[in-house]
Amino acid sequence: MSPYKLLIGGRMADGDLTMDVVNPATEEVLAKAPRASKAQLDEAVAAAKAAFPAWSATPIATRKAALTAIADVMEKNAGELARILTQEQGKPLADATGEVYGAAAFFRYFTALDLPVKVLDDSKDRRVEMHRKPLGVIGAIVPWNFPMILMAFKVPPALLAGNTIVVKPAPTTPLSTLRFGELVKDLLPPGVLNVITDANDLGGALTAHPDVRKISFTGSTATGRKVMAGAAETLKRITLELGGNDAGIVLPDVNPKETAPKLFQGAFQNNGQVCIAMKRLYVHESIYDAMCDELAALAEQAVVGDGLEQGTQLGPLQNRMQFEKVKEILADAKKHGTIIAGGEVPDRPGYFIKPTIVRDITDGTRLVDEEQFGPVLPVIKYSDPEDAVARANASPYGLGGSIWSTDLDKAYALANQMNSGTVWVNKHADLAPNIPFGGAGQSGLGSELGEEGLAEFTQVQVINVAR
Ligand code: NAD
Repeated sequence: MSPYKLLIGGRMADGDLTMDVVNPATEEVLAKAPRASKAQLDEAVAAAKAAFPAWSATPIATRKAALTAIADVMEKNAGELARILTQEQGKPLADATGEVYGAAAFFRYFTALDLPVKVLDDSKDRRVEMHRKPLGVIGAIVPWNFPMILMAFKVPPALLAGNTIVVKPAPTTPLSTLRFGELVKDLLPPGVLNVITDANDLGGALTAHPDVRKISFTGSTATGRKVMAGAAETLKRITLELGGNDAGIVLPDVNPKETAPKLFQGAFQNNGQVCIAMKRLYVHESIYDAMCDELAALAEQAVVGDGLEQGTQLGPLQNRMQFEKVKEILADAKKHGTIIAGGEVPDRPGYFIKPTIVRDITDGTRLVDEEQFGPVLPVIKYSDPEDAVARANASPYGLGGSIWSTDLDKAYALANQMNSGTVWVNKHADLAPNIPFGGAGQSGLGSELGEEGLAEFTQVQVINVAR
């Protein structure tokens, strides 16, 4: 029996099945987790469907109060949630704590938004109003890199708009979400929020379920395609936040010593397991050697270890599959480039790879063209900034990107040419709950966060009255 439980219809429930959750820093079983059966998924959807009429009719002020109460509980229990998160995900405890507080802040942010009726026409012939109505049951599917914060991209706007929800975390990181469900259970009417888990086998059923009106999905592009296909039969609304291969482009006027730490952070935060991590770095030839040396020094200094140990900057990769994938890409990169830091897999338990800088590598190799999603950064030399932008844009992905320069006009002009959902100037991966976030190209469909993200959890209804 697991100490963790599913949340279905306001009750904590054992899974019909169980599964082991592994601590990626030790490879030991951390906990037995409940694993829902298909029947339990159906129960959760039925509970959310039953809760919808009353919840959608609840005054928005009451729904906001519930979100605030959830944020309070998350903050009060941040220590416990962060420890669980570090042990299942691998990230250092300070980062996990930041993630839990960040998630609570996302719940708070949405309480400031409203869905006012917009009057489109108020003339002698007609009065036309635009309303934003909730959709019904939402399915929220979350990946393993940021279980708490990505859940908080979805739950608060969905509930604020009057929807009910079934949340499904990733199989390798279910514990923090299960504990979250238990902590907030009594803050919402039964069935408004449900948490189920799976072993990568229920996402398809949730996506195809006739009583689910929308899927809010964050994960890989490959799975995103399956979600899109699975949602077609019932014409579900979908928001897809998918993979990326963000480029950073460093112009010649940049000081390598000052800029390298920011580039390093943009690439190696969460061990590179960030959809908007900088995954390929284009550096002008005039400062290429100096920048490579600075980045290599930072990689060598980074403290890699168990996230629970004080001083750890980078933890392990989150799961064995990802560990094997990054090792494969690293082996390929050794054939096409020069490793100037890292490149080793320490001889110890845990999915550890030392932060790695690869120079003298270029487009057309796996490390540059694919989403490595790990601590291995290719540094690519270029001579013409316009050409670097063209190479950045040549990817099927289009999630984020960044331009680095002391000449802001020049940087702005290049940023404008980038084909990505977000472009940063002199920073990378800055997200906030009030800033809409979404991908161009095969990095996704639709937006999350901000007013745009909230709107995606609603259906427009026009009421057009003759006069
Ligand atoms: P994944 O696609 O393997 O899994 C994501 C989720 O989908 C998991 O909960 C999984 O159980 C579920 N799933 C599996 N098969 C499914 C199916 N057939 N139908 C529906 N759901 C199914 O992704 P991952 O490996 O957990 O996460 C890493 C990927 O996520 C990377 O590509 C990363 O870039 C991307 N990501 C994107 C964003 C973003 O906002 N754009 C944020 C974080 C991660």
